[in-house]
Amino acid sequence: NKQVIFKDYVPGALKESDMYITTSTIKLKVPEDCTNGVLVKNLYLSCDPYMRNRMRKLQGSYIAPLNPGSPICGRGVAKVLDSRHPDYKKGDFIWAMTGWEEYSLITATETIFKIHDKDVPLSYYIGILGMPGLTAYAGFYEICSPKKGEFVFISAASGAVGQLVGQFAKLLGCYVVGSAGSKDKSEFWVKEGIVCSSASERYGASSAADCPESILITYVHGLHQFPRLPIAISNIVYVDLLKNKFGFDDAFNYKEEMDLDAALKRYFPDGIDIYFENVGGNMLDAVLLNMRVRGRISVCGMVSQYNIEQPEGVHNLMSLVPKRIRMEGFLVYDYFQLFPKYLDMVLPYIKQGKIVYVEDIAEGLENAPAALIGLFNGRNIGKQVVAVSRE
Ligand code: NDP
Repeated sequence: NKQVIFKDYVPGALKESDMYITTSTIKLKVPEDCTNGVLVKNLYLSCDPYMRNRMRKLQGSYIAPLNPGSPICGRGVAKVLDSRHPDYKKGDFIWAMTGWEEYSLITATETIFKIHDKDVPLSYYIGILGMPGLTAYAGFYEICSPKKGEFVFISAASGAVGQLVGQFAKLLGCYVVGSAGSKDKSEFWVKEGIVCSSASERYGASSAADCPESILITYVHGLHQFPRLPIAISNIVYVDLLKNKFGFDDAFNYKEEMDLDAALKRYFPDGIDIYFENVGGNMLDAVLLNMRVRGRISVCGMVSQYNIEQPEGVHNLMSLVPKRIRMEGFLVYDYFQLFPKYLDMVLPYIKQGKIVYVEDIAEGLENAPAALIGLFNGRNIGKQVVAVSRE
């Protein structure tokens, strides 16, 4: 049983060397004394920003730290191989809290959700049809009280959660702008005009000009079928992805903006009604200066703060008072009762093509540490998934 083990608590930036791979033997049977145990083969594992916070001792955290020397745990899509639980039988597909390993024995069976609808990619159950999807749904509809025609801004907008919030807001008739990006990646692509070898092989393109954006997007969207994209072409896709694939009204690369306040004033001359906060730091400060009266800020996360020891201060909170802004944090765990309602809404949207979902699938457990770290430098294009096995 190949496993990814978490070494020890990590201050500062998480590194690949903070995790290592081991292999051990495992009996593919639930032990007799393990009442209700379910033994699964992991197919897809989720990389989520909160996992980094389980790798340090964080005061007041809502989730327990991982145990050093044990496999990393997170959500996964898996196939049941053996079960002593009456609700799950061999051959069922489930998503649950599982381990970063080939096979897991799940004893906390209350975390298991059975997969009924298999007309969609199974990996969606750790993305749009799993925790990130419900996060986008609860964080937007429940926290923001959105109305048609409102001005919505989303940070980390191309990620697992952000891409969905933007599409929900568009379906409601809002004006939507997202931020994403990395200057290095876009400059490399635009200036050098290099097409990565696998893209040129597939599309016969020999320069950037020969490889239209729509092809790049298709290519990225179909990433799981091809070798990992060189980082070079990611960024131009990021921002274009927001407009051309997800249908946002506008998008910008925040790393190319010297002055975030000025950038937001350019995209929202009349101000922002709803900010879906994924990153924190100086983006939050700039947004606070651009909110409209009675605006709402849904504080989903602050990924810019997860790899630093001393969280950055926020300076413009005073704006909350004269503008009567409501700023509210939330945890998706408080909304799991909405899951059936959410699935009823989103499954038809997926099947009708009204909502699309972009995933970035890293192949193999050995690539899982790099995939997790990539969340903190924007290497992922869409929801970061690790494929352990496809059957
Ligand atoms: P993403 O798929 O969006 O991946 C993280 C992205 O964050 C990266 O791709 C990168 O994109 C961006 N990023 C990383 N570092 C920085 C930085 N220093 N400054 C600005 N942007 C940065 O992750 P998720 O969609 O899974 O999560 C988004 C947010 O939602 C996170 O804050 C997460 O903690 C939170 N969350 C909260 C939940 C809740 O219950 N409240 C549940 C699930 C998620 P880019 O190219 O744009 O830089």
